[in-house]
Amino acid sequence: MRSGLASTLFTGLLGLAVGQFSSVYAQDSEGRWYKGNTHTHTVNSDGDSSPDHVARWYKEHGYQFLFITDHGYVTDVAPLNALLGASGRFLIMPGEEITQSRRGEGRGNEAHVNALFTTKSIRPVGELECFTWGCVGRAAASGSLGSTIDANVATVRQQGGIAQVNHPNYLWSLKPEDLDALPDGSLLEIWNGIGETNNLGGGDGMGDKRPSGEGFWDHALSLGKVVWGVGADDSHWFQGERVADPASAGPGKAWIMVRASELTPTAIKTAISKGEFYASTGVNLADISADEKSFTITIAQGKDGSRYVTRFIGKGGKVLAEVDGVKPSYHFQGAEAYVRASIIDSNGRRAWTQPVFRDGR
Ligand SMILES: [Zn+2]
Ligand SMILES: [Zn+2]
Repeated sequence: MRSGLASTLFTGLLGLAVGQFSSVYAQDSEGRWYKGNTHTHTVNSDGDSSPDHVARWYKEHGYQFLFITDHGYVTDVAPLNALLGASGRFLIMPGEEITQSRRGEGRGNEAHVNALFTTKSIRPVGELECFTWGCVGRAAASGSLGSTIDANVATVRQQGGIAQVNHPNYLWSLKPEDLDALPDGSLLEIWNGIGETNNLGGGDGMGDKRPSGEGFWDHALSLGKVVWGVGADDSHWFQGERVADPASAGPGKAWIMVRASELTPTAIKTAISKGEFYASTGVNLADISADEKSFTITIAQGKDGSRYVTRFIGKGGKVLAEVDGVKPSYHFQGAEAYVRASIIDSNGRRAWTQPVFRDGR
C-alpha cells in the first residue's frame, strides 16, 4: 500500500526486528468523520419506498452520505441531490447491487456485489432472470460463486468503481475461498443490518462450519490482501411496523464513519480507497492512531454507562489481546502481519477498525 520509506528508515535506525509498518491511521488527518451507508434499496428494486423518501430518512437520522444500491439498477442521484443534498452536510452517491445467483436446490446460492460510484448498470454473469424490479444473473450450478465474484468485481473496477462483497453468509452461500482472488482495495461487508444474514457464522452440526463475516475478512487478510471491512444496512423497509423489527431490513443498523477532507464524491472515494474509515453498529470512536510501536483507539464514551472490550486481532483471526476501557492500546510484538481492532460494548453494539499492516502491504 504505502511505500513505508520513512518507517523502513526508522526501524533500520533502531535496529528493531519489526516489519514494514503501514497504516492510514498513522497520518495526522485534517479530515472530519462523515457517517454513511453503502447499501440501500428503494422501489427501484425490492425496497418499499421511493428514493427521495429513503434519502430523506438518512438525512434526518444523522447521516452525511448514502449510496443507493438497488438490485440491477442504478438510480440517478442528480435529482435527489438537487432536492436533498446540502453542501458539507448531505450527499447521495450512485451505485447498484450486482445480483448473482447460482442455480441449485431451493433458493440456490447468492453472491451479491455492490458497485459504488458507478453510473452504468453492470450485468451479472450468467443468464438473466428478470422480475418487475430488475434482473438477476443465474450462473450454472457447476460454476463456483467465487469466479462470478471475480468477474463482477473486475467489471466494477473497469468502470472506476469500488466493489463491496455483501453478506457472505446470506443463505450460507459463500465459503472463505470464494474470496481468494479478490483484488486489493475491495470492501467486504462484515456486518449486514438485516437480522437474517448470519453475520456471526455457525455450524450445521454435521460438519459444515462457516466463519463469521469477520472470519471471512481474516481469511482474506491472512492471504496478504488489502481488504477493508464495512458495516451496512441493506435497508429495504422504511414504512410500517417492520421498520422497528430487529430481524427486518429496516434502516439505521450498521454504517461506516469515513474520515475525509470534505464531503464530496472524490474525497469520500479517496478515503474509502485508503481504508480511512471504521465500521459500526453503535460504538463511536473519537480517534484511531497507530505508529511503529502501538495501535491506540479512543472510544467515545456513551452517556448510558456502557462498558467496552476491545479485541486486537491478527493473522488467522487470532485474538492477540483483549483490553477493557475507553482507550485500548496494543503494543506490537514484532511479527504480526496485521492487527485490527474489534470493539463490543456491554449492550452488544460494535465497531471495527481497519487493519494496520506490519508486513509491507
Ligand atoms: Zn444482497
Ligand atoms: Zn441488498
